[in-house]
Amino acid sequence: MKNNNFFNMSKFMGMDSSYDTADLVVYGVGFDGTTSNRPGTRFASSAMRNEFYGLETYSPILDLDLEDFNICDIGDLDLSIGNTDIVLDEIYTATKGIVNDNKIPFMIGGEHLVTLPAFKAVYEKYNDIYVLHFDAHTDLRERYNNNNNSHATVIKRVWDIIGDNKIFQFGIRSGTKEEFDFALNQKHTYMEVGSITTFKKIIESLADKNIYLTIDLDVLDPSIFPGTGTPEPGGITYKELENTFKILKQYNINIVGCDIVELSPDYDNTKVSTITACKILRELSLVICNNKS
Ligand code: MN
Ligand code: MN
Repeated sequence: MKNNNFFNMSKFMGMDSSYDTADLVVYGVGFDGTTSNRPGTRFASSAMRNEFYGLETYSPILDLDLEDFNICDIGDLDLSIGNTDIVLDEIYTATKGIVNDNKIPFMIGGEHLVTLPAFKAVYEKYNDIYVLHFDAHTDLRERYNNNNNSHATVIKRVWDIIGDNKIFQFGIRSGTKEEFDFALNQKHTYMEVGSITTFKKIIESLADKNIYLTIDLDVLDPSIFPGTGTPEPGGITYKELENTFKILKQYNINIVGCDIVELSPDYDNTKVSTITACKILRELSLVICNNKS
């Protein structure tokens, strides 16, 4: 582990390229305005910056090192918290700027709704795009709490934009009957991400496509990841998730936009959930940069 200098304390370790030279741009979006159950995801990115120091920059599983890639952590977006529509616009504008500068955006949520404006900005550049969605929940409601734009509707709003056969969901184990009927009709929802053969087959078929990857961290089992607002038993292990990263690397998948969402650090006083989120950030950053170069 590099003993970093004092001035980098607020940055994710090994993500200290200048913005101009960066291929991957990491930014925090502390928004949890439509959270229905237990709020707190707004604190995720700042908690992660504090815990990242326990991690090495090198990943033995991937045999890749953060120090070999150009990654810039630009910190947290300054958001107009309290007004959801304005916040969504601000996320869209920030992401659009990164994409227009030919860099790959990697957003740290926040609640899952933040994926919508980020995805929109990426979609406008890469029209032919597929979405990989890891989650415990379908997030396919048409409306939730009288709201079209919610963490519980976000993937339906993404579907509104890209339509059938473009979204692949993994680890899903919670939703209404209507959501499951909708998803299963599309043949794109997989309840078991543990079925690594299925995952591999799908990834193989996407090998030459542009991918937007969104990971709702509650896809992990709450016994290993209790730090989230809507924990749902029956989830995957870290090892299973890690295997999917290896497969993304193996097939050289071209990830053009990415986010991890729904860490709510204060529900896990051991901080293991926060550290797990940090490790996922490291592994995915490595895969994205490696596959790009
Ligand atoms: Mn979820
Ligand atoms: Mn979700």
